[in-house]
This record gives sequence, structure tokens and C-alpha cells, in this order.
Amino acid sequence: MRRISVQSLYLAAVLIVSALVVGYVVWPEAQAGPRRLALEDIPFDGAAAYKYLREACDFGPRPSGSKAMLAQRRWLVEHFKACGGEVALQSFKARHPLDGSTVPMANIIARWHADRRERVLLCAHYDTRPFPDRDPRHPKGVFVGANDGASGVSVLMELATRLAKLPGELGVDIVLFDGEELVFDEVGEYFLGATHFAREYVRQPPEAPYRWGILLDMVGGAELHLPQEINGLGWHDTRPLIAALWGTARRLGVREFIARRGREVRDDHLQLHDIAGIPVCDIIDFDYPYWHTEQDTPRHCSALSLAKVGWVLDTWLHEESTGSRPRGRR
Ligand SMILES: [Zn+2]
Repeated sequence: MRRISVQSLYLAAVLIVSALVVGYVVWPEAQAGPRRLALEDIPFDGAAAYKYLREACDFGPRPSGSKAMLAQRRWLVEHFKACGGEVALQSFKARHPLDGSTVPMANIIARWHADRRERVLLCAHYDTRPFPDRDPRHPKGVFVGANDGASGVSVLMELATRLAKLPGELGVDIVLFDGEELVFDEVGEYFLGATHFAREYVRQPPEAPYRWGILLDMVGGAELHLPQEINGLGWHDTRPLIAALWGTARRLGVREFIARRGREVRDDHLQLHDIAGIPVCDIIDFDYPYWHTEQDTPRHCSALSLAKVGWVLDTWLHEESTGSRPRGRR
């Protein structure tokens, strides 16, 4: 009896220790799932993109027709040229919604691999709203548009450094739209640059129409949520693009791309799709709490968010260009 009792105690002790080991070491590990992505895990330079975002904001508010917008335009044109792009300005004029004066505008069009017959359009707007109309304290204050303006631009600037080496069959056009929101409170028209671009595309159809278009808007928020924008989901020509992009994000473990219906957002992609017939989706975080406030500053954006979006975009682009997307996986 006594011997057996000692053995039982010994067995019980072993079981308890094992349970503790499993409980404290193995189980929490399994529960935590895969490690969260850090900047150094991602082969897209988010720190460089964030530096561009800061530099764009250092120009100050950049509404259409402003001096800061002109300075920013020169800076962007130089950058894309230095990255080997063929750069053109698509200039047009708009009417100022308050005083009726003429506002000079220009979309920036930068092309890589002009000889390739299969092309994609990657775009964002680079003007900023004149005032932070939704700011509870200073609706006539200073609006630098770190996320709403600079974030899409900065991801495309960093992506541009890689485009000269893009293998495969795809040529890429980066287009930055002016006049996305020359709007004062709700006075004024949205999407002036995208509308002009889409009309020109119809007026003088390119030899190689775009296979796909991707619009980036508010992709740099420190707390990033990217569900699928509803207009794009409703267009049967665009749905495969959304499935492919969010599928790429899933394979990479970028969980901020959330594969479910998001909100309906009126943005530049509506003009590109409805006027020009380009299958185009909008990658946008419409839950950004600082939208149209003075707080939309670099402090509320992050290098990591820019890195994640850039990585998904870059990976999708390589797979699309080289036909190397894994099949049968969503
Ligand atoms: Zn805006």
C-alpha cells in the first residue's frame, strides 16, 4: 500500500508538472497564433515611405492651385524621373467653387515599361482638402492630410523605386490626381483630376487599355483597417481584382486587409470605372478617426501600415506581371 502510494504521488507530480509545462509554455504560444508582423519582417521599405509621407506634409497644406501644391508637384516629378519613369503632366483648369477664379490643375502621369502592351494603373490623389471641415475645434484650421493625401502618394513613391526592375509582361502607370477635393464644407466638386483623366482616356483611347486599376486612399493610419469597398465589389469586372489583392494579403499574413464588405465610399475610382470603364478598386481605410481634422498628421500614421500596403501591392504586381500567382488558393 505504502509503496503504491509513493508511486501514485510521484505519478501525480509528473502529471502536474507536465500540465504546468503545457499550460504555461505550449498553450499560450498556440493561442497567440502567428507572430505580429514587424517592420523588419516586410520586404517593402516602410521607413522610406514614411519619410516621404513626412516630407509631403512638410510642404504644409497642399490644396489645388496653392504654392505648396506646385512645390510638391516639382518634388514628385523629380522623384519619379529619378526612378526611371517617363513623366508627363496632364494639365487642365477648374473653377474655384467660392470666388469663380481659374485654378490651374495637373495630374502627374509617370510610366514604366512603355513598350509593354499589358498595363496597370496605380493611383492616388495628391491635393489636400483646403480646410479640416470635420475638426470639432478648428474647422478653419490647418490640414496637412498625412493619411488623406500623403499616404497613397508615399506608398507609390516607394513602389516607384522598384518599377524599373519589374519582371514580366506588365507596364505600370502611376497617376497622381489633382483636385480630388477642392471642396469648402460641401461647396465644390470632388474628383476633378480623376474625371479629367477618365474623359481624356475615352477621348483618346490608349493602344493598351488598363487591365486593372488600383486606387490608394488613407492607407497609412497607425490603426489600419482595410475591408473591401462596396462599389468595387458590386462591379463584376472588378471583383476578381479585389479577390486577388485580398488573397495576396492573406497569404502574406497582412491581416489589415479584411476580406469582407466594408463601406461604400465615393472616391476617384467611381470616375475611372464609370467614365473610362477601367476595372478599378479602392484600397481605403474609412474608419480613420482623424479624417478631415487637424489631427490627420504623421503622428497618426505609421511606417508599418505603409509597409504592409506596399508589400501587398508589390507582391500582387509581381504575381500579375509574371503569371506566378498560386492557383487554387484564395
Ligand atoms: Zn478627404
